[in-house]
Amino acid sequence: MPFSQHPDYKENFLPSDSENPFDSMRKRFDVAAQMLQLDQGLYEYLIHPVKQVVVSIPIVMDTGEIKVFEGYRVIHNDVLGPSKGGIRYAPEVTIDEVKALAAWMTWKSAIMNIPFGGAKGGVKCDPSSLTPVMIEKITRRYTAAMMDVFGPDKDVPAPDMNTNEQVMAWIMDTYSMHSRKTEPAVVTGKPLFLGGSLGRKEATGAGVTICTIEAMKKLKMKPKNSKVVVQGFGNVGSVSAQLLSQKGCSVIGISDIHGAYFNKRGIDIQKALEYSAKNKSLKGFKGAENITNGELLELDCDVLVPAALELQITTKNANRIKAKVIIEGANGPTGSGADKILAEKGVTVVPDILANAGGVTVSYFEWVQNRLGYYWTADRVNERLTDMMTSGFERVWAMADTYKTTLRIGAYVLAIDKVAKTLKMRGIYA
Ligand code: NAD
Repeated sequence: MPFSQHPDYKENFLPSDSENPFDSMRKRFDVAAQMLQLDQGLYEYLIHPVKQVVVSIPIVMDTGEIKVFEGYRVIHNDVLGPSKGGIRYAPEVTIDEVKALAAWMTWKSAIMNIPFGGAKGGVKCDPSSLTPVMIEKITRRYTAAMMDVFGPDKDVPAPDMNTNEQVMAWIMDTYSMHSRKTEPAVVTGKPLFLGGSLGRKEATGAGVTICTIEAMKKLKMKPKNSKVVVQGFGNVGSVSAQLLSQKGCSVIGISDIHGAYFNKRGIDIQKALEYSAKNKSLKGFKGAENITNGELLELDCDVLVPAALELQITTKNANRIKAKVIIEGANGPTGSGADKILAEKGVTVVPDILANAGGVTVSYFEWVQNRLGYYWTADRVNERLTDMMTSGFERVWAMADTYKTTLRIGAYVLAIDKVAKTLKMRGIYA
C-alpha cells in the first residue's frame, strides 16, 4: 500500500512546532514518500534505524567520585555503504535527536552521491563543566564501548557540536589501541598530522557558500548587491560569513549564543573573526550595534544563513522573515510547520541536507585519503568539493522542478528514491 493511503499519513503531514527533531525529519520524509508512492514496506524499512546503541560511561572524576554518563550511537541506514556521522557532547542530547540527525546523514550522503549510510552519536554531558582530562576519559570509554559498532568499513564517526579534532584523535587512538594497529580511517575530522584532510575545517562553510552562489545564479541575484545575515559564529557560521564577504556580499548581521550584532553598512568579518578568536565569543564586539537573536533572524536582508541550532525558524516567526533565500548551515533550523509559510511567501530554502553537506563530503575525502595513504592538496580538495556541491545542488533543483515542490522536498525525494532503489536491488536478507 502506498504510504499516502496509510491512516497515519494525514496526521504526520499536519504542520506543528511542538515537534522533536525526529518528527521534524519524519514529516518531510512522509511528504516525499507520498510523492514517490513509496511502498509501505520500504517506508517502514527506511524510517526505522538499523541499530540504536545506548551505553553507560562510568568515569572517576577529578574529585575521586564516580559519575555515569549516557552515550548513544544510532546507525540509521547502511544500504549505500558504511554509516557516517558526527558525535555531539551536550547536556540536552537525546536519543530522538540522535535518531533524527542519523537519518539526515543518510539523506545527505545519498544526495551527494557519497557511498556512505547515515549515523550519529552523542554523550549526555556538559563539556563546559568538564576538564580536558574528564573529556578524554569520557571519549575513550565511549569509544571502547563502541568497538563493535565503529570501524572503517562499518561506521565512521566525525565531530559535531562540542567535539573537535582533539576528541577525534582520542577516538582514533583508542580504537587503534584495541585493534592493535593504527586505523586513521575509523574517524574523520582528525588533526592534519594524524591523517586529517586539508579543507575539512572550512568544508561546511565552503559548501554553504557554494550553495548560496548557485541559488543566487538561479534567482538572478548578485553577490555584490546582496545583504547577508548569519546566525551562529562557530565553525559553520564564521566560515560562511567570511567566504560570503570575500565573494562580495555585505554581511550585515552575525550572532553567537551571547548576542547578535547588526551594521547596515556591513560588518568587517575579518575583525569579527579576530575578536571572537581572542575573546572566545563576540560579546562586546564594537563593529556593530547589539540586537537580540530574535531580531537578527527578522532583519531586512537577501540571504539568511542559520548556522547555530535546530528549530530557529518556526510558525512563530516564519511570517516575519524578510530574507529571499535561506541557506540552512545548521541541521534542522526550520520547523516543518514553517516550511509551508516560507513557501507561500516565496522564500527559497536550500535545505540542510544539501546546504551543509560540504562537511560530510570532505569527511569522505579524508576517509578516501586515509585508505589510499596518499594526501591531496587543498586545491584538489576544494575543486572536488565545488564539483560535488554544484552537481548536488543541480540534482536537487531539477528534482524540485520535476515534482513542482520545494527544494527541501525535492532533496528528500532524490535521497529516498536513491536509497530505496539500492535497497530493492540488494534485496532484504533473511
Ligand atoms: P559550533 O559549536 O562551532 O558553533 C555553534 C555557534 O552557534 C556558536 O557560535 C554558538 O555561540 C552559536 N549559538 C549557540 N546557541 C545559539 C543561540 N541560541 N543563538 C545564536 N547562536 C547560538 O558548531 P558548528 O560546528 O558551527 O555547527 C553549527 C550547526 O551546523 C549545527 O546544527 C551542526 O549540527 C551543523 N553542522 C555542522 C557541521 C560541521 O562540519 N561543523 C556540518 C554539518 C552541519
